[in-house]
Amino acid sequence: MEYTLLSDTQILVDLDRIAGNMRAVKEMAGPHVTVAAVVKADGYGHGAAAIAPTLMENGAGLLAVANLAEALELKKSYPQYPVLIMGLTPDRLLPLVVEHGIIQTVDTLRQAETLSRLAVQQKKAAIIHIKYDTGFHRLGFPAEPKSLEEIRRICSLPGIDAQGFYSHLALKDDASNKAQFSAFMRAADALGQMGCHFRFRHIADSISGVDDPEYRLDMIRTGALLYGLKGFHRGTLTVRQALTFRTRISHISHVKKGEGVSYDYVWTAPEDTRVGTLPFGYADGYPRCLGNGKGKVLIRGKRAPVIGVLCMDQCMVDLTDIPEACVGDEVIIYGNGSDDAPDIQEISQLAGTNKNEIVARLTKRPPRVYIHGDEKPCIINEKEELT
Ligand SMILES: *Cc1c(COP(=O)(O)O)cnc(C)c1O
Repeated sequence: MEYTLLSDTQILVDLDRIAGNMRAVKEMAGPHVTVAAVVKADGYGHGAAAIAPTLMENGAGLLAVANLAEALELKKSYPQYPVLIMGLTPDRLLPLVVEHGIIQTVDTLRQAETLSRLAVQQKKAAIIHIKYDTGFHRLGFPAEPKSLEEIRRICSLPGIDAQGFYSHLALKDDASNKAQFSAFMRAADALGQMGCHFRFRHIADSISGVDDPEYRLDMIRTGALLYGLKGFHRGTLTVRQALTFRTRISHISHVKKGEGVSYDYVWTAPEDTRVGTLPFGYADGYPRCLGNGKGKVLIRGKRAPVIGVLCMDQCMVDLTDIPEACVGDEVIIYGNGSDDAPDIQEISQLAGTNKNEIVARLTKRPPRVYIHGDEKPCIINEKEELT
């Protein structure tokens, strides 16, 4: 079955690991805390629609995305799954939000009024989560008395189901988290006294969800953890990386001492060298800055450095230490921790970024292959591959 894929460069996603991570997060959260599974940016590169059932069947209470296009993609396959848009939606697109029963983040009275009108027109409820800015200064009602009055008015608008009230932590340090949390709770309590009660108050993401049990409230919004990317400091939770990025050697060159490789001949052979060409590059989402010996891939259990400038679609590796390497050999670009290949944590450190960016930047070019642990790969996007 594997050869039906049109590319040797593939992203393997272990659905059993996603399921195990989801169950671990839900178990940590406990029966009274809903887990919003964050699948923005195409499920952090893993394929949002493909992993959605695994998440929902293993404890997710809802799916959270960044924008309307992402929400509609999920609703197309799974109209019954609750989907929250954590960003704002332009006014002109709000009719679609109501039509598809998508849960919308709101941080102005004006947009709530627009949603209310649309809900009444369409004879539907517009479900919203109201965002409150406790210091991140990205989205949210500003922390001032006028906002509370406006939120109170939103709660009584016809057709509006204000299910959630939430904020987002800057994660600067414990003191700043605490200041944000206190500001959030003061606002939630004041709203309660004004008669506004929310089923879901939430502020914690993956890191804070593990580190600060007292911030879990009614819901946590976890992305990174579901993919096995750990960022927590104090708490602990066993999650396993679900993604493996792999390819095969497409060509081997014999480069003579003193000859160059790739653009500008940045790398020149110190000795006669066997150089492997691999069919992946920065257009697949691998960081270009990991050329010139920084990045390493795993071939036959040994690490080979990426040499010279990393190209858009290909790169070259030094095979000096792996004389047995042949064209067609499997190459692990990012391992999932089960071998000696660099994992996403190591790659992100080398690239000077965070783990989320490493996976979110993976492009759609490498096909996603969904596997169950050690079973044979099952190819979900096979049909797309063949058309
Ligand atoms: C992306 C995002 C999250 C999830 O962040 P992780 O660190 O991946 O858990 C939570 N809340 C909001 C508002 C987000 O944008």
